[in-house]
Amino acid sequence: MDDFAIKINKLCKDYRLYNAHLDRVKETFHPFRKKYHRTHHALQDVSLEVRRGEFVGIIGRNGSGKSTLLQIISGVLYPTSGNVEVNGTTSALLELGAGFNPEFSGRENVYLNASILGISKSDIDNQFSDIESFADIGTFIDQPVKTYSSGMFVRLAFAVAVSIRPQILIVDEALAVGDIFFQQKCIRYMEEEMKNCTKVLVTHDMHAVMNLCDRVYVLDQGKVGFEGSPIESVEYYTKAMQNELFKSSMATENPVQSKLENDEVGNYGGVGWVFVDTEDRAGASEIQIVKARLVSGLEKQPVMTALNGDLLRLEMIIESSVALNSVLFGYILKDRVGNGICGDNTLSMATPTYSLESGLYVVSLIFKWPDIAPDNYLMTLGVGQGDHPLHHVIQCWAHNIINIKGLNDKEAVHGIFTNPIIECEVATIE
Ligand code: ADP
Repeated sequence: MDDFAIKINKLCKDYRLYNAHLDRVKETFHPFRKKYHRTHHALQDVSLEVRRGEFVGIIGRNGSGKSTLLQIISGVLYPTSGNVEVNGTTSALLELGAGFNPEFSGRENVYLNASILGISKSDIDNQFSDIESFADIGTFIDQPVKTYSSGMFVRLAFAVAVSIRPQILIVDEALAVGDIFFQQKCIRYMEEEMKNCTKVLVTHDMHAVMNLCDRVYVLDQGKVGFEGSPIESVEYYTKAMQNELFKSSMATENPVQSKLENDEVGNYGGVGWVFVDTEDRAGASEIQIVKARLVSGLEKQPVMTALNGDLLRLEMIIESSVALNSVLFGYILKDRVGNGICGDNTLSMATPTYSLESGLYVVSLIFKWPDIAPDNYLMTLGVGQGDHPLHHVIQCWAHNIINIKGLNDKEAVHGIFTNPIIECEVATIE
């Protein structure tokens, strides 16, 4: 038996775009076949493979081709060229409303959907109460679905999609419209009840991607821009977004790159430094983080581990290519799947920002290792500009530069960190 569930080879999807509605008609009847359209390549040369049982995420900015790809995999849309092989029964949760008749009740739509999927009435009779209880929309099940909120709609759509016990489940962002309790219920269901089912999820929810997926494809203008582990892919995607935002020209020659070979910077300040690669940086780039290290707060020896309460000193060498005011510094500590655990920036301090001339600086941030669960953590460092805590320019992010193992001599940390119970009362009930 083949080991793959979905195999796509050099897939292309073109759309014809017309400036005016009538242009399509004019083109059809033009005696010399004059073209009135321009071609838009929604997908170009996309190749991907999903193995049986894998949970694959697809991320990318709006318009990058994610929905088009899922519609082709689900057989709703035909490709312009390329091959798509889908190996197994498929259930798809695409655009909200697809496959439902708005005039029919929820109950009638369940039967309608089932008959489209080739499931007999008696099978659905048997399953109906499960679908109804999963959807949990009460008496709305007998109301026309045009009266449903988007949340109710997705509840019923998900319940129907999973009721046929598909071998492949395809979900296009739909879950995002459900409330958080329902989202959690669907996630638990997918994890527990659909372990062996192949799943493909399009989403903008990076936490879901990190927590659920085995592998992630990043689509970029209709092409596969990146494929890798969730953490690598989310990093690739967020960096690409940030770079676009700040119009940073990562591809052009980078002034700091030359400094990396410069002994002045390379040998500065002892041992334990981690150089920041170009691909680990993002931001407006007038200031760049060249290298960084974490040392003990007192002896200034490089550290690889930290105990709760340890005083640490995060040092970074930065280069400013221009004179800038209102420069701030900060860090974020991330867990092994990339969730931000904690962090801070200098805006919270008595001296929140600094004025820099062009040149090199060493910046030291001193903080205590927090009371968090023992595990490996990564530090992302940032230099910004501005004085608003939420809205300031990111000059440079240096992503996941420092790796540190948190130890903890406490008996137990509950969750990521322990939030102490301030008081406990136990009273008898008469
Ligand atoms: P995403 O799901 O990543 O937001 P889509 O797959 O919806 O992206 O769209 C990819 C590109 O194809 C976009 O530029 C979009 O405008 C275009 N597109 C999608 N559907 C059509 C259509 N029916 N006609 C013309 N262009 C379309």
